[in-house]
Amino acid sequence: KANDPVRILKKSTARKLLPAVSAHDNKATRGRSLLLAGSAQYPGAGILAARGALRMGSGYVMLAPQGVTVSSLENPDFLVLDLKKDSWQQQKFDALLCGPGFGVTPFTAEVIRELKARKVERVVLDADALTVCAEQDLFPLPATWIVTPHTGELARCLGVEAEEIAANRYGFVRVAQEMMGCVVLLKGPQTLVAGPNRVYGISTGNAALAKSGTGDVLAGIITALRAQKVPALRAALLGAYVHGATANLWKSRKRDLLSMTASDVVESLPQVLYNLR
Ligand code: AMP
Ligand code: MG
Repeated sequence: KANDPVRILKKSTARKLLPAVSAHDNKATRGRSLLLAGSAQYPGAGILAARGALRMGSGYVMLAPQGVTVSSLENPDFLVLDLKKDSWQQQKFDALLCGPGFGVTPFTAEVIRELKARKVERVVLDADALTVCAEQDLFPLPATWIVTPHTGELARCLGVEAEEIAANRYGFVRVAQEMMGCVVLLKGPQTLVAGPNRVYGISTGNAALAKSGTGDVLAGIITALRAQKVPALRAALLGAYVHGATANLWKSRKRDLLSMTASDVVESLPQVLYNLR
């Protein structure tokens, strides 16, 4: 509709945003992702984000959980940092994710403050990092950053009730974009992505994604795209598109929507990307 303020991302557009593969690629040119995700309480959130980032093409993924370490022997595809010994500031990375299962702690706040002060360009904030930003008044964020709240997280950030947001997602994603200053991806049935000038709707996805951990995979996917230097708005759009497309593929394969897991999202990505290209 001409007067519809939401522009739906077309498959033909999503296709153009997919990073090219060259015979000369190496793991450095495919981008290094540093993921500050997972904790003793939620180690799985970090692992799922790392697996999403790897499947989205990041050449090198480093996972740094808070207050716990995860087994490298059981997770040979990515590096594991121990924040008690390895400082995240000393790592070489192209994009950084902070938040999924990471914990709402003074350290999380310290990380975000430092990323802002150092004007780190490619950052994705999700989950606990957004709670910290709300509590510590860390908005606005740089325009090149991406935040990926679900309705409850956005409600906390804006200081309104989740029901209000659910009733006017378009209005609130715009309000959030103005307040936060970065790209805002509002998750849920019909994910919305707001840049400074426009709100986009993501047509892919279904209720099979209503399962814990799927949002962590999305955060990893988007971080991998940022690490490959896809611009922020485009990375959010393509990330949400392919993430949702895994659920559409699941359904088309005649799998029940009750049964999909976050790991299934990760494992469906190769087929989704192949079909998109
Ligand atoms: P999170 O709440 O962080 O775990 O993220 C959940 C993910 O699943 C987001 O990408 C949501 O957009 C997606 N999701 C959850 N419920 C639905 C639904 N009913 N329909 C479509 N997508 C959903
Ligand atoms: Mg989440």
